[in-house]
Amino acid sequence: MSPVPPLRPCPLCGSNEVAPSWTYERYSILRCRTCDVEFSVPFEAGSLDYYIEQYADDYAVPRAYEDIDLGYRFTIQKIAEAAARLRPDQRRVLDVGCGRGYLLVDLQRRGFECLGIDFHERLVRFAVEQYGVPARVERLENLLALGESYDLVILSHVLEHVDDPAGLLRNVFAVLNPGGLLVVELPNRNWFSLGYSLRRGNMGWNYYPPDHITFWSLQALRAALQGARFDVLECVARPFDDLDRVGVFVRTRLRLSSGPLFHASIWTLKALGRLFGLEGNTLNALARKADTQAGTE
Ligand SMILES: [Zn+2]
Repeated sequence: MSPVPPLRPCPLCGSNEVAPSWTYERYSILRCRTCDVEFSVPFEAGSLDYYIEQYADDYAVPRAYEDIDLGYRFTIQKIAEAAARLRPDQRRVLDVGCGRGYLLVDLQRRGFECLGIDFHERLVRFAVEQYGVPARVERLENLLALGESYDLVILSHVLEHVDDPAGLLRNVFAVLNPGGLLVVELPNRNWFSLGYSLRRGNMGWNYYPPDHITFWSLQALRAALQGARFDVLECVARPFDDLDRVGVFVRTRLRLSSGPLFHASIWTLKALGRLFGLEGNTLNALARKADTQAGTE
């Protein structure tokens, strides 16, 4: 008989309506019945030392922007769509947790006034030296204290790492100008991927605590944004069949590489996926801070 895991209130909405969902090594993962986020107990974010050690290889090989992982393309596309909504006088962009700075390269080249911040000094240096993206080790709280403000904030694969996701969203709201936009992206715990499962523990180690300590659904992401007073303009899962995942499955598992059966298999799997509403590996949301504060609580 396994011991009953300790319960704690939801770190996102504060609800006590939480229940055990799954486990990973020494962690219990609880689900909030109010906002639908899942979170680990103990609820402890990885330290800077942990990230410096675990991600040591990440900046070892300089890469041209054009060679970056295809997995970033969806995010870059979503950021470009957000930027296209900005007025000509809305030029200031902040990437919170910018890492190697990939997500700012396109906007920087197009003349936006960009800043990337991160707590990892070597990643920030990589962004500056490799891509010419303005980036520095900085805290969002410090930018707020300095009275800085932005028109577009990017929060990509950050919320699931931090031990105060609601506080981070409140600070992002505060640092945005009225009418400003937020693009959020994070892993989708309802990702349907043949052969992979978060709950079975067979995803990469960096999908689990202490890297990821919250696990998100569309419902949870929407609730978190609304809880921080954002208007949610879009909240979507990446298409389940992007990056040719269906094609890879057909080639490797069904051992088909061409011919009518190959094409029929791909067509059938994609149609079934759409029929059953399967979701891709990440969630992406576009949210706005209302133009005027009058009338809001
Ligand atoms: Zn909750």
